[in-house]
Amino acid sequence: MRVLKFGGSSVAGPEAIAATLKIVAQSQTPVLVVVSALGGVTDLLLEATRQAASQQEQWRESLEAIEKRYLDTVRGLLPLERQAAVLSRVKMELNTLETLLEGAWLIGESTPKLGDKIGSYGELLSAFIIAQYYRSQGVSAEFQDSRDLIETDSTFGDAKVNQEKTYTKIAAALTGEIPVVVLPGFIASNAHGDTTTLGRGGSDYSAALFAGALQAAELEIWTDVSGMYTANPKLVSGARPIPTLSYEEAMELSHFGAKVLYPPTIRPALQAGIPILIRNTFKPGEPGTRIEADGNPHGRTVRGISYVPDIALLSLEGPGMIGIPGISHRFFEVLWQKNVNVVFITQASSEHSICVGIRESQASLASEAVNLAFEREIEKGGITPVQVETELSIVALVGDGMKQHQGLSGRMFSTLGRNNVNIRAIAQGASERNISAVIGSSDVKKALNTLHEAFFEEQVKQLNLFVMGVGNVGSRLLNQIREQQKVLKKDYRLLIRVVGISNSRKMVVREKGIPLDQWSTVLEEGAPTSPKGYYDLVRKANLRNSIFIVNTASAEISGWYAAYLRESVAVVTCNKIACSDSYS
Ligand code: ADP
Ligand code: ASP
Ligand code: MG
Repeated sequence: MRVLKFGGSSVAGPEAIAATLKIVAQSQTPVLVVVSALGGVTDLLLEATRQAASQQEQWRESLEAIEKRYLDTVRGLLPLERQAAVLSRVKMELNTLETLLEGAWLIGESTPKLGDKIGSYGELLSAFIIAQYYRSQGVSAEFQDSRDLIETDSTFGDAKVNQEKTYTKIAAALTGEIPVVVLPGFIASNAHGDTTTLGRGGSDYSAALFAGALQAAELEIWTDVSGMYTANPKLVSGARPIPTLSYEEAMELSHFGAKVLYPPTIRPALQAGIPILIRNTFKPGEPGTRIEADGNPHGRTVRGISYVPDIALLSLEGPGMIGIPGISHRFFEVLWQKNVNVVFITQASSEHSICVGIRESQASLASEAVNLAFEREIEKGGITPVQVETELSIVALVGDGMKQHQGLSGRMFSTLGRNNVNIRAIAQGASERNISAVIGSSDVKKALNTLHEAFFEEQVKQLNLFVMGVGNVGSRLLNQIREQQKVLKKDYRLLIRVVGISNSRKMVVREKGIPLDQWSTVLEEGAPTSPKGYYDLVRKANLRNSIFIVNTASAEISGWYAAYLRESVAVVTCNKIACSDSYS
C-alpha cells in the first residue's frame, strides 16, 4: 500500500489537483491519499470563527471566500454532467458550516470544541471533492472520513492521538480492497465522537499514522518545494534540497521551524522504520529528500539551518538566587501550570540568572505568573521582577555529526558577529545535534543567509556594495566591476553585487542587485538623495558583507564613515579627506 499526502498548495485549485492525479494514477498498488484543505482555507476558517465570535459581520465575507474557493474548484475540475450532484452535496456541507458560524456570531463566543468542528470543513470538503474528481477521471476512488479512524483525547486544537486504538481501527477499515482511498488530513475525533484536530500542519501527521498502522513501505509527503532544504528556500536563495537525512536531524530541523514537515509526523515513521519522502507535486521528476534511520551515513556535520519566529526571552535574575535550591524548579513549575511552552533554556553557571525562550504570545501571561510566584523574593529585593524581551527569533544549526567537531559554535558566532548580528542568548542541546542562538527578528534574514553562506556555500562569498559617487572614478569603477564580475566569481570566488548607488541628486537601493549595464537609468528613477537618507537605506537593507564605497571628495560624506563602521559596514574610499581628519 502507498501512502501519499498532498498539502494545501498541492490542492490549492483545479490545476494543482490535476497534478496530484498524475502522481496517484501511476500506482500499481492500492493508494491512500491524505489531503489538506485547499491552501489558505484553514486560515480563513479560523479567521471567520474569530470574527463571528467577536460579533464582527465580516465573518460572512470570510465564509463567502471559502465557498467560492470550493465551488470554483468543483466547476474547474469536474465535467459538466457530474457537477450537479457534487455541487449540491458541497453546498449542503457549506450550509451546515454557515449555521455553526452563525451560532458563534449569535452567542458572541466560540469554544475550542466548536473551533475544531468549524476547522474540519476545510479538509472534509477537499477530500470529498478530490475523490469525486479522481472518479470522474476513471480511477476507482472512495472518500473515507478520518474521524472514524483516528482517535484522540479532547485537547481541541492540538489533540493527542491514542495510537493503539487508532492503529486497530485503521488496520480493520483499510484493507487494500479499494484502489484509491481519499482521506481528510488534520481531523480526528475523541472517544465521544466529537471532532478534534491535530494541530496546525497536522495533515502530515495523519498520513504518518496511516502509514504506521498499515506498515507502508514509505510515507510520501508531496508539497510545493523539492524536499527539506538546507534553509527555508523562501528566505535563503542559495538553499538547496538535502538528499537524505536521519529521523533525528529531520526532527530537529522541523522542530526548529522547517515547516515543510510537522514534527509529530516523524514518530510513527521512526517507530515502524518507514522512510519519509518529501517530494514536489509540481516537479515530480526531482528526487526530493529521503528521511530514514541511516540518513546521514558519513556523519556530515551541519545539515541545515532553521529558525523559529515570534520568540520572547524571559529572564529571572538576582543575588537571592545564588545557592538557593529549588528556584529553577519553582520557575519551571509556574510556566508548566500556565501551559507555557518553553522553547529554549539557558542558565548562567553563576546561578545568578535563568533565561528561557517562549512564544511571544504567551509572554505577558508567563511574566505575570512568575512575578506572582516570586512575589516575596521580589519584595525583599533578592530577585528582580522578570525581564521580558520581545521581537526575537531563534536560529539553529542542525546536524548529527556536530558532536564530533570542535569549533562549529565558534564559527557560527563569529560569522554572525562579523555581520553585526547581536546574539541575546545561546543554547546547545545535550544531544549536540543543534546549536541555537536567539537574535532580533529584524536580523533573521541576514543571519540565515550569512550562516548559509558560511556553512554551505563557502566557495563563493557575496559582497554587497553601496556606491556613493558615480562621476569619473565611480562610473569607471562600476564598469570595471561589470567587466570583472565573471572572473572574480570563477577565479576568486567572490560574488560582487552593486546593491546601492547614489550621486549628488538621486539614490537607489535594490536588494537583489542593480544590473550594471543599466545602472544610470535605474539611478535616474531613484529617490532624491542625502547622506542621511542613503545611510538609512543601507541600514534598512541590513545585508551581510556590506561595503560603503565612496568616490567623492566630500568632507560631509567622510563625516559619515564612523556611523557606517559602527554598523559593521566596511568603508572603501578614494576620498583623501578621510585620511586628513583629526585622530579622534
Ligand atoms: P504543505 O501545505 O504542503 O503542507 P507547508 O507550507 O506546510 O506545505 O510546508 C512547505 C513550506 O515550508 C515551503 O513552501 C517553505 O516555505 C517552508 N519551509 C520552511 N523551511 C523549509 C526548509 N528547510 N525546507 C523546505 N521548506 C521549508
Ligand atoms: N489545513 C491544516 C493547516 O493549515 C492542516 C495541514 O494543512 O496540514 O494547518
Ligand atoms: Mg504542512
